[in-house]
Amino acid sequence: MHELSLAVSIIETAVKAAKEHNAKKILEINLEIGDFTVVSEDRLRFALEITSKDTITEDAKINIERTPGRIRCKKCGYEGDSSPPTEDDPLQHLIMSSLKCPQCGDTHTEIIGGREMGVVDIVASK
Ligand SMILES: [Zn+2]
Repeated sequence: MHELSLAVSIIETAVKAAKEHNAKKILEINLEIGDFTVVSEDRLRFALEITSKDTITEDAKINIERTPGRIRCKKCGYEGDSSPPTEDDPLQHLIMSSLKCPQCGDTHTEIIGGREMGVVDIVASK
């Protein structure tokens, strides 16, 4: 139910932002979801559909941008993309919490990107 709690916080954020700007309706919500967050886009969209019912975000268009997983290697200094967790076994990488460097194969790496999740901005109307 990871996606449902995320959806609730997204809708809360959007509604709060809209209220601060006296907006009456939210037209679009732009989201950023990192490849290392293990969030299923389909399940998130479904959760948002349920969560936004009877709120000012009900008809909002949801735009999801995926940010690639990026790692830094402590051994050779490589910085860049890493293969994201696979659909079959999405938790494997995160449990290990050390990802293999594609350059030297070392596992002394840290995640520097791909953990983003949430609202980037919203488009609303008065
Ligand atoms: Zn390396």
